[in-house]
Order: sequence, then structure tokens, then C-alpha cells
Amino acid sequence: MEPVKMIIGGEAVPAVNGAWETLIDPATEEGFVEVAQASAADVHRAVEAASAAFETWSRTSPAERSTLLLKLADALEAKAEALSAAEIQNAGKPQKLVVNGDVPFAIDNLRYFGTQARLVEGAGAAEYVGGYTSVLRREPVGVVAAIAPWNYPIMMAAWKIGPAVATGNTIVFKPAPQTPLTALQIAATALEVGFPPGVINVVTGGGPEVGEPLVSHPAVRLVSFTGSTATGRRIMELAARKIMRVHLELGGKAPLIVWSDADVEAAARGALVGAYMNTGQDCTAVTRILVERSQYDAFVDRFKALSLEVRVGSPQSPTTDVGPLISADQRQRVEGYVARARGAGLEPLIGGERPAGRGYYYPPTIFTGADPRSEIMQEEIFGPVVVIKAVDTEAEALAIANGVPYGLAASVWTRDVTRAWRFSQALQFGTVWVNDHLPLVSEMPHGGFKASGFGKDLSRLALEEYTVAKHIMFDLSGTAVKPWHPVAFGDF
Ligand code: NDP
Repeated sequence: MEPVKMIIGGEAVPAVNGAWETLIDPATEEGFVEVAQASAADVHRAVEAASAAFETWSRTSPAERSTLLLKLADALEAKAEALSAAEIQNAGKPQKLVVNGDVPFAIDNLRYFGTQARLVEGAGAAEYVGGYTSVLRREPVGVVAAIAPWNYPIMMAAWKIGPAVATGNTIVFKPAPQTPLTALQIAATALEVGFPPGVINVVTGGGPEVGEPLVSHPAVRLVSFTGSTATGRRIMELAARKIMRVHLELGGKAPLIVWSDADVEAAARGALVGAYMNTGQDCTAVTRILVERSQYDAFVDRFKALSLEVRVGSPQSPTTDVGPLISADQRQRVEGYVARARGAGLEPLIGGERPAGRGYYYPPTIFTGADPRSEIMQEEIFGPVVVIKAVDTEAEALAIANGVPYGLAASVWTRDVTRAWRFSQALQFGTVWVNDHLPLVSEMPHGGFKASGFGKDLSRLALEEYTVAKHIMFDLSGTAVKPWHPVAFGDF
């Protein structure tokens, strides 16, 4: 495969210092393509290009931006096969997930933001005080820096690029170093359909070398980040130095609560998909299953049986359910959690051993009996590892479910409608599903409470993240002395 360049200022360019890095196929552990490795000089070039493009892009009409985004979505749809092939090899994701999930969803996200571009409006144009008309405008923020992780490469690109450019911003997007291919394809396709040079730039490389200079660049006005809480904290620190807006999506530790009146078969199947989809590398993944005691044995038996049926294998096979983890590092991280749980006296019901052979594979792994304060019940593992625990009361279930630093997503399984509402209200998470777990839609927001961050991806709320409100107050009297002036000068 030809070496892959970055997209800066409308051109495919190598890094200024000529550095390249080899991408590794997680299923084979073999390198398959070289990608340009940016440094601070490339970041500077990209931000300059985005700043120059902002001058004109921010003045385009909503209709023009909408039309281009809709064209981009159509053009990506026409290339869906090539995009899917890149994503499958680059991220090690199973074919059926990419072809039926990630790629069409990312295209739908862009199409949604294309339609919404024409609907960005300031609320409240009125005479709130006599003699003045107040108008609220929503304006683009400027150059946006977006930094993405490796678990959903094309979706993250769509989630950040879509709302940023729909609202008149320009963007410098840094994909995760492991998975840059589909973001680069989006940027290249955007140029083909007529996006002006510099509106969408993609720089490739590592966090410290590329991410930090990007966040710290004085011309960047907003950073939108998805990734770990530790990196989110670092990005906030960098942003604080120049008082910059920050939008953070920082992972989770989702509970799935099964009550005594639930359909156990449905709950076990929901937990299965929720825990193992994308090899558990999902910030909303089911990680803690809390089951009302009377259903505990039935649930564990069924969930264990279904987990043993999961087909772990090559992402290229149409029947694979679970592919490899993204990298050797990520597998080691997962293995570390499992080893420490074993060290604390827990033995997994199933799994817990890496299979022989090539590829960063790891099997579905189930623990029971963990203390709610233990590491595997508190920290994001980001692998196919799940913990099941029996609970006796709603209060206990809620205390355990809410008793983690994270607050991204949760689900409750019950046929009692009042219980469903009680849990939905009391769970401190940005998304609560009732009788399912994982699905998202373009029209509804995704984002966390607590250490899962703040700011919303998707939906109209994302458009607010990427715009700044301006109040314009217009004098209607035309007089030199306004009725309120004597408050400060002269007499009433
Ligand atoms: P990181 O948060 O470190 O990486 C996410 C992105 O941030 C990457 O593009 C990364 O580049 C970049 N980055 C890292 N450090 C900086 C920095 N100082 N300034 C700017 N950008 C930076 O996640 P990891 O890939 O290290 O994964 C570790 C853990 O994080 C996972 O096990 C999981 O628990 C969690 N995670 C959560 C995700 C979510 O969806 N919320 C997604 C991915 C991971 P680089 O890789 O070069 O450092």
C-alpha cells in the first residue's frame, strides 16, 4: 500500500521532518502501511491553514455548509466498501460490526449534521426591556482541535467534524496514532466534494508530539476530546493556561441492572452484546452486571452459556462476533486487570487466558463475587471482561451502580414501569437504557456525568458545544439620553 499522507490546507502532505510510522494490523500483528508522523511544525501548518480558511468558511451560508455535508455523506456512502475495508484492517473490528454499524452510522451522523446546519438559531429575539430589541446569535468558535481514540475511528471523526463544520468552524483533527485511515479518507473525500482547503485538516501522530502542541496552539479556540480520563485531565490543564473551551468524553464503567421481574433471556442477550461488542473497547460497554438475587443463578447460567458461544476470530470473517484488541499494549492492560483480580483471590468463571497464535485476541471473561470497591468494579478495563454481582434491594443496586467515578451510560431491565422510571431518574449517567444497552441515535446526545466528562456529542446539543452565544442589544429610541441613564448621571 502507498504511504499515507496527512491532509493539511487541502493537500496530501508528508510530515515536515519526513517521519513515517508503520500501522499494525491487530489481527496479524503485521505492519501493513506507513503513515506520516507529524511534529509541532505540522501542527502549526495545519492550524494556520484552518485559521486562514475560517475567515471565509465562517461566512458561508448555512445552506452552503449543509449542501457540502450532505454531498460528503453521499460520497462516503459510495465508498462504503473501501472505508469498511480500511476500518476492519486498521482497527481489527469484525466485518459485520463495521459494515452494518460503524460506517453507516458515521455517514448518518454526518447527514444529520448536514440537515441541522440550516437550523442553528439564536433563541429569544424580543423587547425584554422597553425600548430595546435583544437578539441571541450563535456564532462559530473558530479553529477547533479534535483528538480521538482508536475504538471507533470513523465514528469519532464524524462526531467531531460534522458539528464543527456545520456551524462554521474549521477543524484540525488528530486521530489516534493506531487508527488514522478512515479520518484521512473523510478529509480527502471532503475536498473531492468541494469543501474549501483548510476547513478539514487531519494531522497524524502521537499525543505528546502532536496532541499537546495542537491543544496549546494560541489560535485554537476549542478542544473536543474523546479518550481516557487521565488524558482528559491533561488536556484541561493545557486548556486552562489559555482559557479555552473544552469538551471531554472520557469513558465509563456502565452498570446493567437486572431486576427480579425482568425477562432474563432478554437481559442475558443484552448483556452479551453490551459487554463484548467491539471486544469490550467501548466507553458505554456493560462492565458491571447487578442482578436481583432471586434471578442471579438463572442469569449467570444463561449469560455464561451465551458467552461461551461468542465467536472470537478474524475481523475479516463474516461470522466473527469479537475481533482482537487494538494493540499489544491494550491486551497487556486488560491482562493486568485480570491478573490483579486473580491476585485478590477471584477466579474467572470463563476466559482469562490469551489464546495461542498471532493477533491481540482476548476471550470473553466473567468474574463474580468482586467487592464493589475493588479495581475491576471501579476502573475502565476496555476489554471483554465483565463482573456479575447479586443485589438485594433497589437502594443497594443504585449505591453500587452510582458508586464509581464515571457516569456515562447505564441500563435497567425490568417489566415494572414504575421501577424503570425510578431507576432512570436515580442513575447518575448521561444515558440510561430501559431493557436494552448500547444503541445510540444521531438525534440524541451522548456524553457523561462526573469523571466521564462534559459536553455532548451527537444531537442538537453538540451544535451548542461548537458555537458561542452572542447577545446583541439594539436601542430602538434613537435618543441621546436613554430612560435609564439618570441611574448613573443626571436626575430622573
Ligand atoms: P488516551 O486517552 O491516552 O488516547 C486518546 C487520544 O488522545 C489519542 O489520540 C492519544 O494519542 C491522545 N493523547 C494522549 N495523550 C495526549 C496528550 N497529552 N495531549 C493530547 N493528546 C493526547 O487513551 P489510550 O489510547 O492510552 O487508552 C488508554 C485507556 O483509555 C483505555 O484502556 C481506556 O480505558 C481509555 N479509553 C477510553 C476511550 C473512550 O472512548 N472514552 C477511548 C480510548 C481509550 P496517543 O495514543 O499517541 O497518546
